[in-house]
Amino acid sequence: KEINSRENNVAKIKVVVRKRPLNKKELARKEDDVVSVCDNGLTVHEPKLKVDLTAYVEKHEFCFDAVLDQRVTNDEVYRETVQPIIPIIFQRTKATCFAYGQTGSGKTYTMQPLPLRAAEDLVRLLHHPTYRNQKFKLWLSYFEIYGGKLYDLLSDRKKLCMREDGRQQVCIVGLQEFEVLDVQIVKEYIERGNAARSTGSTGANEESSRSHAILQLVVKKHNEVKDTRRNNDINESKGGKVIGKISFIDLAGSERGADTTDNDRQTRIEGAEINKSLLALKECIRALDNDQIHIPFRGSKLTEVLRDSFVGNSRTVMISCISPNAGSCEHTLNTLRYADRVK
Ligand code: ADP
Ligand code: MG
Repeated sequence: KEINSRENNVAKIKVVVRKRPLNKKELARKEDDVVSVCDNGLTVHEPKLKVDLTAYVEKHEFCFDAVLDQRVTNDEVYRETVQPIIPIIFQRTKATCFAYGQTGSGKTYTMQPLPLRAAEDLVRLLHHPTYRNQKFKLWLSYFEIYGGKLYDLLSDRKKLCMREDGRQQVCIVGLQEFEVLDVQIVKEYIERGNAARSTGSTGANEESSRSHAILQLVVKKHNEVKDTRRNNDINESKGGKVIGKISFIDLAGSERGADTTDNDRQTRIEGAEINKSLLALKECIRALDNDQIHIPFRGSKLTEVLRDSFVGNSRTVMISCISPNAGSCEHTLNTLRYADRVK
């Protein structure tokens, strides 16, 4: 199969919207599905009331690179979003795939299977005649940004710090990287990492909606024998040269950025942090799209961590997840407006 000539066919930034089906609760409440999809366009039918309390519907139309309706499977999401990027990871591309949207809109459902499928394809390429003899290896790491701090999800939530070398390479000190020799192990790492995500006292989804989870698959070239140790504390500066990478980011719930007026101090601080990172992310992607020289990484921890994925040969896929029910209309419109601004 052709590998080399595809680079220019993959858009630098792709914005995809995914609509989930109505869930049991919403169906039980007989909520309306207010989102209709047609090709790469989408309409939100917002129920409203006039001052005299008569009901009417306000239509909001949007258009994106792709819109995936409630019937689309995770496999199809993979083929539409991540798969086209995989071959160019071996050609020094740094790619990032984000899931954005309100809590409960399907970010984790969408994100979860993607690294697994990507690892399958990356491992297949490692064995492709083009790369077989090049001493490439695939590495996996999984960490979380919570309240502006980094935690390793694959080593007991060890607190991490970030350093930047002179060549704009981001190094997360102490982050564990595991070599991916077979794909089954990726599933185990993902499950282990998910179990380690912030849970707090209020329940898993509640707390994890305040953190960004970042899973990275990195292709490195190794020349020395000592690099082949497994499960060792090998970071980018020590072990092999980074050829390309892809980061999968399950972002904090977009509505959490609005928690800045909450009565609880901690919630307020976290809300401000999330708000900052989602704004900074949007600014960085826009700067990238305009081929701006100056990319405003410094805006947040999230964008600082992703710094090396915003320079040089980069690709960004934003998957905006939306809930279809009438009750989520306002959040859905906010999500779509954010995505629209990124585009
Ligand atoms: P988020 O991570 O954005 O908070 P989740 O991924 O946890 O949301 O999704 C919320 C619920 O909806 C979960 O029970 C999930 O299984 C279900 N769900 C999300 N997207 C879909 C989908 N496309 N098809 C079927 N169920 C979905
Ligand atoms: Mg989630």
